[in-house]
Amino acid sequence: MQQKKIPMRSCIGCGRNRPKKELVRIVRTPEGEIVPDGTGRAPGRGAYLCSDPECLDRAIRRKALGRAFETEVPPEAAERLKGSFEAILPRADSGRSRGTEAPDAG
Ligand SMILES: [Zn+2]
Repeated sequence: MQQKKIPMRSCIGCGRNRPKKELVRIVRTPEGEIVPDGTGRAPGRGAYLCSDPECLDRAIRRKALGRAFETEVPPEAAERLKGSFEAILPRADSGRSRGTEAPDAG
């Protein structure tokens, strides 16, 4: 049913299949550090996550990261990854509020 070939990847957090460009690539550096690959071109083994911190959380809890990279991911490495992951996400929570409109109560 697809007209064009859109490269699909599955998120290691929620397992959903999505177009690659909607996902954030995570790579393991030669030093063994696990970092988000903002360019999508870093060499090395990669895994994909939705641009959603919840999926990263899920991946950490389910040890999907460790499986994807065939390595153990210590909690502090996971914490660092979280920080840099959130830093590259488009900011959804700022620049929208004007004061009069109620933000969604979530
Ligand atoms: Zn996901």
